[in-house]
Amino acid sequence: MSKILSERQKIIEKFPDRYAETAKDKRFLALAICGEAGELANYLKKEWRDSKDYSEEIMDEIADIRIYLELIAKTYNIEGDKLDERVIAKMKRKEREVNG
Ligand SMILES: [Mg+2]
Repeated sequence: MSKILSERQKIIEKFPDRYAETAKDKRFLALAICGEAGELANYLKKEWRDSKDYSEEIMDEIADIRIYLELIAKTYNIEGDKLDERVIAKMKRKEREVNG
């Protein structure tokens, strides 16, 4: 397990039970990813509309999405390095599809 993932797991284990339970519920996690993606889209919209820099907020929302993505991946036992390997395999399949 990567150092970051291990540290994240320690933090999650310190959550009150109520949060620890929702952190294992795939339905909650799927909705949370959608919610965070909406927050990201909203900052991108504001940046586009207002020509204002929201980089910090955008990076926080990207981090939020990653947190929930790692948590839902964990429910399928593909978090951390295993998820990275899965992403690479998927990208290679896509590359073969595109390039023949
Ligand atoms: Mg957020």
